[in-house]
Amino acid sequence: MTTDPAFAELTTLLKRTHTLGTVAELLGWDEQVNLPPGGAEQRAAQHAAVAEVHHAAASAGRIGALLGALEAGAGGLTPDEQLVVTHARKDYERATKLPAEFVREKAAQSSRGYHAWVRAKAADDFASFVPVLEKNVELAKREAAYLGWSGREYDYMLDKHDPGLTAVAVDRLFGELKSELVPLVRAITASPTAGRAKAAETTLRGFPVEGQRAFLREVTEQIGFDYERGRIDVSLHPFCSGTGSDVRMTTRFKVDEPLDSLFASIHETGHGLYEQGLPAAQFGTALGQHAGMAVHESQSRLWENQVARSRGFWRNVEPRLRALFPTQTAGLTAEELYLAVNGVEPTLVRVEADEVTYNLHIILRFEMEKKLFNGELAVRDLPAAWRAASREIVGLAPATDRAGVLQDVHWSDGAFGYFPSYCLGNLLAAQLWYRALTLRPGLEEEFARGDFSWLLAWLRAEVHTQGRRFDALELARRVTGEELSPRAFLRYLRERYGALYLN
Ligand code: ZN
Repeated sequence: MTTDPAFAELTTLLKRTHTLGTVAELLGWDEQVNLPPGGAEQRAAQHAAVAEVHHAAASAGRIGALLGALEAGAGGLTPDEQLVVTHARKDYERATKLPAEFVREKAAQSSRGYHAWVRAKAADDFASFVPVLEKNVELAKREAAYLGWSGREYDYMLDKHDPGLTAVAVDRLFGELKSELVPLVRAITASPTAGRAKAAETTLRGFPVEGQRAFLREVTEQIGFDYERGRIDVSLHPFCSGTGSDVRMTTRFKVDEPLDSLFASIHETGHGLYEQGLPAAQFGTALGQHAGMAVHESQSRLWENQVARSRGFWRNVEPRLRALFPTQTAGLTAEELYLAVNGVEPTLVRVEADEVTYNLHIILRFEMEKKLFNGELAVRDLPAAWRAASREIVGLAPATDRAGVLQDVHWSDGAFGYFPSYCLGNLLAAQLWYRALTLRPGLEEEFARGDFSWLLAWLRAEVHTQGRRFDALELARRVTGEELSPRAFLRYLRERYGALYLN
């Protein structure tokens, strides 16, 4: 470590800013897990007040002065310290270019937007959500303008979640993916096995919530989630927040869809493992931060799909599932259960989609967002545009907006440009998976014994402990030796689902 007092002081200020950010996150977690409906306005005010304090800390003039001094004498910094300074400069620029009044307005609007979305979705009333969404788009464009991205607003939204990403780059990756994915989905859904998978899945009914809770707790603990430093609760839309020694995951329970809560929980566990694996001593600096949402999603999707839908994984958990739910699972052979876990069926709802059709939902949202930001599409015209695009891309058109344009939480708090991260995360997850298998061909045998330690240790070393050193594109290159592309993902789908459906 350096003895430079300026660097030590900078680190202290960055950590304080980070701590205030975790307070804001905790308010957000509580809002979705515990808040009574009548508390919405009060929570919006709390969010705004904390956002203001956080913003003041992040944009403090002292940080600017320290950065200036450290940049002037950069020769004396270690490479890690240099990395901290470079990222701190980027964050500082972002914080200082946003007026405090704008930050306060956006925080309050995000919170109100969430509650307006909950009401609009429950009532299937898109019209009531139009002014909220218009305001969110306007705020997003203003934010881009403050930061110097006028005319490239959607690129700004993408870059915000995954540095360096542009709409042109995403377009190219998605184009390549779509051209092979659409015929693959068609072939799989036309297979007689698709009907058998569906039949197997529909026999999984009547799973009491308490049993599901116990099962997913065992499974997520076995994978490596540390419940001394995290917890899991229930919310409408599963998510993971918090970091380090206090990671908050959520799931939801449906008595007749036990696989839904299981896979949602494993997905969030993947996020949680990443957060628990970041270097705690470095929290607040780039060395202790995650590397963007595509990398985050690569971790959740890798555990949810490549791992938890593998045969090895099911050899391990099947006896326990049958022991906890003997009557509910009695009608299925092991092969039928495995088929139910890997069922493929086009659906209207993204979060219910299997991993084969999932990315079609992302491509649909990317098309909508692009048009929303380049002015081709007005907010009020979204429902009709969504239905048409859904019919074309997913193959189904929703009868209600609740199952269509209102289904996702993201736009309610202005998280535009986030959806592509899910798809890029899927692509990166498949690349990481094949790299891991090359290094450790017997991985699935280890899963069958309930041993996930090698994979977790490898991800810790290659991804988690790297903090924000490498963005998704660099990480793919460094860890897998290849550019981020749909090739590994398509290979994975053809291998796993081809073997099940296309024999
Ligand atoms: Zn996720």
